[in-house]
Amino acid sequence: MTTETKAAELLHLRGQTLAKGDPIAPPITLASMYHLPGTPGGVPGYGRAEQPTWEATEHLLSHLEEAPALLFPSGMGAISAALFATLKAGDRLLVPCDGYYNVRKLGDEFLKGLGVEVVERPTKGFAEGGFEGFAVVFIETPSNPGLDLIDLVATCAAVRRAGGLTVVDNTTMTPLGQRPLDLGADVVVASDTKAPGGHSDNLMGHVASRNAALMERVRTWRTVAGGIPGPFEAWLLHRSLETLHLRFAAMCANAEALAPRLAAHPAISTCRYPGLPDDPSHNLASAQMATNGFLIGLTLADEASAERFIDSCPFLRPATSFGGVHSSAERRARWGDAVAPGFVRLSVGTEPVEPLWAALEEALDGV
Ligand SMILES: *Cc1c(COP(=O)(O)O)cnc(C)c1O
Repeated sequence: MTTETKAAELLHLRGQTLAKGDPIAPPITLASMYHLPGTPGGVPGYGRAEQPTWEATEHLLSHLEEAPALLFPSGMGAISAALFATLKAGDRLLVPCDGYYNVRKLGDEFLKGLGVEVVERPTKGFAEGGFEGFAVVFIETPSNPGLDLIDLVATCAAVRRAGGLTVVDNTTMTPLGQRPLDLGADVVVASDTKAPGGHSDNLMGHVASRNAALMERVRTWRTVAGGIPGPFEAWLLHRSLETLHLRFAAMCANAEALAPRLAAHPAISTCRYPGLPDDPSHNLASAQMATNGFLIGLTLADEASAERFIDSCPFLRPATSFGGVHSSAERRARWGDAVAPGFVRLSVGTEPVEPLWAALEEALDGV
């Protein structure tokens, strides 16, 4: 199915199930208890296990992923569920050392103590050393914030041959930009706090997989661990998903137009964007991604220049996180990421591109 067809269908998924008089938008169901006489089953029983508003949002997410999807109250909620559902004492887990840092923290502070050996490797050269003996290989591509790529087809096949499972964090690309399950991944996890939510007002995440037994364990984890989405927050994500294709296309087109101009600016020493023909990620990005995304990595001379650039640009919000309609930027070294002090992660928003470029250029001229 093309991305266009999928986006068109998404807008009518609910509509095609409605009876006369039903609201076009899904209602927000606030319920811990449901009317449940006699034998339970087949209907919602209790609010920690079943929730009609989650199901409305999961319906859209499954459509986007072309796989069953389960909703979580954050990206980390989804990642924790995927790892707790797949790992046990004695297992080995491989994670990237340059990916989202809370995954490593979850490994170090919790999984290790439960008997899981956690091994870290850089995204660049991830396959070196092979995948023998790993129960789960956690992949993030493009990596955040470095924007290096992992070859999904080759890596997922190698992990499968070695008897392990792959869990791919697809946050930076969304299901419209990259399709890990089609490229061989067992499980996709994502933070829908980013572009899928897109308005910087909601946290949410999901797990998707075509492995039914594994999804049943993820569902059980959610029910027994008890970290569940609120109905209003689930509804907000439902609303956002209806415009994801518009926002994502605008953000990626903006990034595509801005990257070469940023790369050519004298205040910038390095510009990482997979869409640039000379970027180290370019060929692999063309092979496995539908677009080049909306994140750009910029290296300025030093911390002070980077901070001046971010603070003086009227169309940049100085904020952590990414994927919102408002362009935002931050110096990742402030969180201890292994990047240069002048490295800025730029998340390109949906502003019309020429005014956005004029503001970025003026701020860069002034550093
Ligand atoms: C933000 C992010 C997460 C965590 O998501 P939350 O919704 O903040 O819990 C996980 N992975 C990546 C790549 C992220 O960018």
